[in-house]
Amino acid sequence: MHPKYSFVIPVYNEEDTLREMYRRISAVMDRMDGLVELILVNDGSRDRTLSLLRDLHEKDSRLCYLSLARNFGHQIAVTAGLNFIRGQAIVVLDADLQDPPELIPLLVEKWKQGYQIVYAQRTQRRKESWVKRLPAYVFYRLLRRLADIDIPPDTGDFCLMDRQVVDVLNKMPERNRYIRGLRSWVGLQQTSIPYERDPRFAGEVKYTFRKSLSLAADGLVSFSKLPLRLSTYVGLLAALVAMLMAVLVFYWRIVAPTSPLTGFATIMIAIFFLGAVQLVSIGILGEYVGRIYEEVKGRPLYVLSEVAGFNDARSSLNDQG
Ligand code: UDP
Ligand code: MG
Repeated sequence: MHPKYSFVIPVYNEEDTLREMYRRISAVMDRMDGLVELILVNDGSRDRTLSLLRDLHEKDSRLCYLSLARNFGHQIAVTAGLNFIRGQAIVVLDADLQDPPELIPLLVEKWKQGYQIVYAQRTQRRKESWVKRLPAYVFYRLLRRLADIDIPPDTGDFCLMDRQVVDVLNKMPERNRYIRGLRSWVGLQQTSIPYERDPRFAGEVKYTFRKSLSLAADGLVSFSKLPLRLSTYVGLLAALVAMLMAVLVFYWRIVAPTSPLTGFATIMIAIFFLGAVQLVSIGILGEYVGRIYEEVKGRPLYVLSEVAGFNDARSSLNDQG
């Protein structure tokens, strides 16, 4: 029998949170009005996470897991989980209990009203430090202005998606997966539920500053061509400034031949300014070209090393990526 709901949770070095997470989420699973499968995706953890997953699977057959051959990153881990779902409504959440599982029935209620995507929108991040909050705040506003599609601010990956949406996501071949954006790109009926994001239950944050930065760049580059156009604008502006300066120098040469403004300093400033503009433009271009390079290589998105709990053809390790 196929489950009605699939919960997908990526885990990376979460030995401290797994048991509590399982306790809280299985309480929610027991109260659902249909069969639930819990898909845990081990993203190349280096602690006891995998053996804990094996134990939990022994005890509870609703819990299935995938193990990736190394750390492929959060977005890819979620993608792997979505490739394996069998339910009709799919919920994605974090393992660290920052996304309260108790909210799931509310998401499901909206789904039953006919929404295909129900995302949980953070109202408060009081319990997180401003070092995380401020860049996040700025980024989501920037993304909203730049992106070609409407990506709602302050939403993470915590959401419910209808099977129809996940089928579309699974057909998307791209490697630079900014799931929050791809999800909005699909369209259909979307709605949100506000919630307060709790602090991490235990362990350290797995999203280092570098990983967050690269996720932010993925989001911007995948959903906006505006940065590319920006270099054109700045280039045009620089050309205008250069023309003005040429006129000014011409004027000074004729009217005030002894003016100090035509000297060394002016030239240095101009050289540095133009150099900076060019380097930044090349950098922006590089962000796009680098991603094109990643895409054309067409490597599989992930490699599996262990799969348990899926009693159909997909359990075969050869059928991956
Ligand atoms: N995670 C993952 N791979 C990674 C980093 C994180 O699967 O390379 C998982 C992690 O186990 C957690 C979720 O992604 O379930 C969110 O990570 P974290 O709580 O560290 O990030 P934040 O709360 O800052 O979004
Ligand atoms: Mg977290």
